[in-house]
Amino acid sequence: MAGLRVRSLLVTGANRGIGLGLVQHFLKMPNPPQWVFAGCRDPKGQRAKELQNLASKHPNLVIVPLEVASPVSIKVAATTVREHVGGSGLNLLINNAGIAKITLLENETPEDMTETYTTNTVGPLLMGQAFLPLLKKAAQGSPGSGLSCSKAAIVNMSSIGGSITNPYAWEMIQASSYRCSKAALNMLTKCQSLAYKEHGIFCVALHPGWVQTDMGSSAGHTPPVTVDDSVTGMLKVLSSLSEKDTGTFLDWEGKVVPW
Ligand code: NDP
Repeated sequence: MAGLRVRSLLVTGANRGIGLGLVQHFLKMPNPPQWVFAGCRDPKGQRAKELQNLASKHPNLVIVPLEVASPVSIKVAATTVREHVGGSGLNLLINNAGIAKITLLENETPEDMTETYTTNTVGPLLMGQAFLPLLKKAAQGSPGSGLSCSKAAIVNMSSIGGSITNPYAWEMIQASSYRCSKAALNMLTKCQSLAYKEHGIFCVALHPGWVQTDMGSSAGHTPPVTVDDSVTGMLKVLSSLSEKDTGTFLDWEGKVVPW
């Protein structure tokens, strides 16, 4: 992982699942970041216990109250992060928080469609907007030309379920609202890559594999990939990416996923 060296990063939905795994892996790096911001919508709650334990041992871990469906919460979180990092900005924003409604197409409701889109798609849009000044600062302050995840980047946690070419496991799980929200997140990633390139910010959509988390297991099947393997794979992939890869859709093993 020698290639991935960030001074600061923020992970949304960091209290469990893949988000927590990402935080744990960054803290264990030989050269850990100066700041690891863990977004969590209920920092004092029961579901944040592991994060609280980690924070008591790692002074560079800051738990940031963050509800990605709330524009106000996002703005407050951006202010909190700015107060910590000062002029050096934020290198890496990982939009990981997400929800899935395991429902048949015939049972999808306007409420489920809207809630899923608000969390999985609008959240990452607003996060990108709110943290843009900090990402720009990080890009300006990093030596070297070309885009990379070490310099300044937005990583959107997508899903192969949002692939239109290969709508993975449809027979097993329909979850149309989820698929639509991730297909839209992929388009958002492309838009962000086009708009933010001139600011030196790399953008990518990542499929983490089918992973052993609450969400991964929610349809009653056991996923094949552990959180550890998924996160190890994704960090290796992120460390290897360069300017030519901005705006792409990749999986945890570095393979291109069809849109
Ligand atoms: P989990 O359900 O295990 O965890 C989801 C995380 O997101 C929790 O920390 C949860 O917080 C947080 N979250 C949900 N809604 C919000 C919100 N509105 N504001 C802030 N935080 C929120 O999911 P995974 O770890 O499995 O998934 C992480 C990402 O990976 C998701 O984007 C998912 O779509 C994607 N993914 C996962 C796959 C898998 O197999 N697991 C496959 C493909 C993609 P809280 O504890 O408060 O609910």
